[in-house]
Amino acid sequence: LRSTMMASPLNIARILSHGASRNHASVVTEVHPDDTQNRATFAEVGHRCAALSAALEKLGIGEGDAVGMMLSNRFESFELMLAVPAMGAVIHPINVQLSQSMILATIGAIDESVLVTGPGALEYLARHHKRFPALRHVILIGGDVEDVEPEGWEGVSVHSYEQLLDGMPSHREWPDIDENAPAVVCHTSGTTGMPKSVVYSHRAIYLHAMSMGAADGMAITARDTVLSMVPLFHVMGWGIPYATMMFGNDLVLARSTSAETGSQTAALERGVSATQPTVIACTPVHFAAFLRAIDEHRDFLDNLDRVILGGSSVPTALSDKISADYDFHLIHAWGMTETGPLGTASNTLHGGHPMSQGRFNAQMFARVIDLSGTPLRGQTGFGELEVAGPYVTGSYFNADPEQDKSFDDGWFRTGDIAHVTDDGYLTIIDRLADAILSGGEWISSVELENAVMELPEVAEAACIGVPDSYWGQRPLCVVTMHPWADPATAEGLYAELTSVPEWKRPDHWAFLAEIPRTSVGKFDKRTLRRWYAQGRFE
Ligand code: ADP
Repeated sequence: LRSTMMASPLNIARILSHGASRNHASVVTEVHPDDTQNRATFAEVGHRCAALSAALEKLGIGEGDAVGMMLSNRFESFELMLAVPAMGAVIHPINVQLSQSMILATIGAIDESVLVTGPGALEYLARHHKRFPALRHVILIGGDVEDVEPEGWEGVSVHSYEQLLDGMPSHREWPDIDENAPAVVCHTSGTTGMPKSVVYSHRAIYLHAMSMGAADGMAITARDTVLSMVPLFHVMGWGIPYATMMFGNDLVLARSTSAETGSQTAALERGVSATQPTVIACTPVHFAAFLRAIDEHRDFLDNLDRVILGGSSVPTALSDKISADYDFHLIHAWGMTETGPLGTASNTLHGGHPMSQGRFNAQMFARVIDLSGTPLRGQTGFGELEVAGPYVTGSYFNADPEQDKSFDDGWFRTGDIAHVTDDGYLTIIDRLADAILSGGEWISSVELENAVMELPEVAEAACIGVPDSYWGQRPLCVVTMHPWADPATAEGLYAELTSVPEWKRPDHWAFLAEIPRTSVGKFDKRTLRRWYAQGRFE
């Protein structure tokens, strides 16, 4: 026998056409830092995507070519994420919150001939133009293009985004791109090393988007208003733009203008008050700060049904606060740049445990390898989590030999230490790189942080292993106290930490006004280790 089914490619053009027609009245809103808003219906998004693709074709962009975007979460970024892959080219959302050298490295890795950015980046790009010899066009959003003449930058023309779109056709037949063709490139956020390049196919993105509608996953439907603070450069904004066009929810893009907590919290507050979302997606660190800030305006959360938290573990203190004080449900999700990102989700609405990272769906195959290299069976033990599936990357783009070590006989090694129960519930114990090896025994930094953050005076805590001549490593805990806490209580935290056996308790403590974060809002333990080595915590 042979199958009688149509060979119908799963590609982004189909997601876009479906969204722009059947979900034509749904709305995407961009919340600006200055309190203004931009709104467009999906029908309008469809028209502008057609015009954008025609403009890019005029600049010579064709199938397989890369277009870079250095933009925060804005309306145009959403259009670029859809139009560029739909025309068969590849969009590269560049992480603008990385360090300068890492930004240059990630642009240099992809060889874009077109970059879309704001006027502020122009001088910087011109200064480093030798690092991207393939670049021919810079498209600016905002700013007056007539005034721009990048000095000494031969062979590169600068355009205005809106002028390019002006007069272009607002309808088109999208090509039927092969589902295995490349669509988007993202970089890991470099929490534990240099960013690595992952190239997503149309098929991977399509199947991933479908999984975001599953009831035990994120359960996104046309009745939702989803507010996302996740930058589009962080694993395609967790794939939310594609799920949005597929399911027809309204989307609110909140701009996180800088890596500082304050402004991110403010962006979230503005977005929430203006749009009253049913779903919020962000990291636990940002959400905890947001809940502290919004306390006086709880009515903004009246429509809120679910909060999707991922990127790092949800602290017990946060999950307890949500279940005690609020009516919305928590969806705790685990994922990585390499896994599309959604690997597992624990939806408390459907009985998921808030402290578990949740269950794998049918697309995500998983196994746990114990420290001797043997796959574990059954409920006992822990080890390194390995995954495989249609939206797990099988390699890194232009990988060096060190990066190739992440792949093991058809499996991707996550670098996470995990435990999985027989019925598929995952608990991430720690990152291999963050777990603390003291006297031959592992101490989970996550477990310590959870215990410390349950102490009433503590706002945030991050634990790292520091060298110890006798034990190998011992835990150092870096703490931010609540503003109202009496500084004198800091001395007593060790004694208060009775929930942790003494051998695991941090023997070193440091107090900061703010714990440094990575570009995507995780505690930046690499910086903490460097500060320790420099003697800043003595
Ligand atoms: P980077 O590896 O540079 O931080 P990613 O954003 O891809 O970039 O991070 C993926 C990692 O984040 C995972 O391997 C895991 O360690 C951590 N992570 C993501 N979600 C969770 C979660 N819900 N609980 C615990 N850890 C998580």
